[in-house]
Amino acid sequence: MTSSFSNLSLAEPLARAVAEMGYESMTPIQAQAIPVVLTGQDVMGAAQTGTGKTAAFSLPLLQRLLKHENSSTSPARHPVRALVLLPTRELADQVAQQIALYAKHTKLRSTVVFGGMDMKPQTLELKKGVEVLVATPGRLLDHIEAKNAVLNQVEYVVLDEADRMLDIGFLPDLQRILSYLPKQRTTLLFSATFSPEIKRLASSYLQNPVTIEVARPNETASTVEQHFYSANDEGKRHAIHQVLKSRGIKQAFIFVNSKLGCARLARSLEREGLKTAALHGDKSQDERLKALEAFKNGAVDLLVCTDVAARGLDIKDVPAVFNFDVPFNAEDYVHRIGRTGRAGASGLAVTLVSGSDARLVADIEKLLKKKIEIEALEYDEDQPNIRNQGRINDGRRHWRESEAQGGGAPDRERSPRGQRGGFRPAPVSRDPFFDRPYETPAEEVKPAWEATERAATGRISPNIKPKRKVAALFKAPDTVA
Ligand code: AMP
Repeated sequence: MTSSFSNLSLAEPLARAVAEMGYESMTPIQAQAIPVVLTGQDVMGAAQTGTGKTAAFSLPLLQRLLKHENSSTSPARHPVRALVLLPTRELADQVAQQIALYAKHTKLRSTVVFGGMDMKPQTLELKKGVEVLVATPGRLLDHIEAKNAVLNQVEYVVLDEADRMLDIGFLPDLQRILSYLPKQRTTLLFSATFSPEIKRLASSYLQNPVTIEVARPNETASTVEQHFYSANDEGKRHAIHQVLKSRGIKQAFIFVNSKLGCARLARSLEREGLKTAALHGDKSQDERLKALEAFKNGAVDLLVCTDVAARGLDIKDVPAVFNFDVPFNAEDYVHRIGRTGRAGASGLAVTLVSGSDARLVADIEKLLKKKIEIEALEYDEDQPNIRNQGRINDGRRHWRESEAQGGGAPDRERSPRGQRGGFRPAPVSRDPFFDRPYETPAEEVKPAWEATERAATGRISPNIKPKRKVAALFKAPDTVA
């Protein structure tokens, strides 16, 4: 169900901003959530990222805050009225940017605070006074402790990507933050899943919430063409080159399961001539924002990322997503491929399946309630720079067939090494990088595309008091990937 924004009687400055965004009709989450939030009721919403969830909560919230709009320069006239909490820095930045766009014709002020950045500029913004504060929990607590953020006039709280906040271990931080807020308020909780933990959080902090579910977490967008190709590790890079070339795809996200894999794959693809950046939790905030920006402006074509680092990133028109590793958690499959085919565009999701992935693929089948067909990729003869070509299973085969034969695992797993084209020992690498165990870099080596930029800022802000520095060692950071 979609309907027009004009049915909502949004205030003129908001309606104008929406029109400028080019939105023609509401997405299903917007059509359902906006009228409810406008009445001031609590909401528990299940919606995937990419469904237009940010506008679904921020437009009605801004509309209700318009009564506080004023052009006074006094900070006291601009207390925080709405607090939006998100699990990662990138998500916080992205949501804050969207809110600023929706609010641009109003006098309402908004800002964002997240870790990994100098606290000073954030403090200056907070001290000027803002009506809408977007934050990650850890950094918000830093500002609360430093008395930069006063939350006793908050009327609206949004807990966005609440399931991921709990996964990261933010529950104690959330509980502390919520304890600073007035009891009389509207609370909106959005989560991909309504797990028992989420339900418990909701029952503690929401009052008679209206439940809105638009896309169940086991549903993938129908606009995404999904393929599962059989490949071993060397063959996976070959497959990426092949798909990019045969489909004429310029940009893609490539998901891996570990920081180690992320760094190594990015390095390999870069060496093979593809403009690549890595996005994972060991990158400084500055580098991560630059990598994203480079991807957005086309200086980088491939963004190799881990799940948490990439969670919810909204980059328009990503034509393809590769799962270099099958995700350990089937729900992450849905999140990953949700990066493509957004807002009605068509997208391609390619998952590269190796011999030991049978159980993980079966988990995805169970979640999607669909049979997954593992296909063989046909290769061009002239693939450059990739050794061990032709090491990919040939022959289409259905996963369930192998299960029926009593295996459950792909044929290749039961084959002796070197047979059926799979599992030959990897060739000795000439780049010593690949022979070293993974280490968190003490000093980040700059990728070529940002070689001229000034040095990245340190990971822990010099403005964080020593007390917090020690505490930070014992608690989950804003983003861990
Ligand atoms: P979100 O799920 O909030 O991350 O939004 C995903 C993307 O959809 C963002 O780029 C929004 O700008 C875009 N979007 C949100 N609402 C609409 C709409 N009604 N029509 C078209 N695009 C939209």
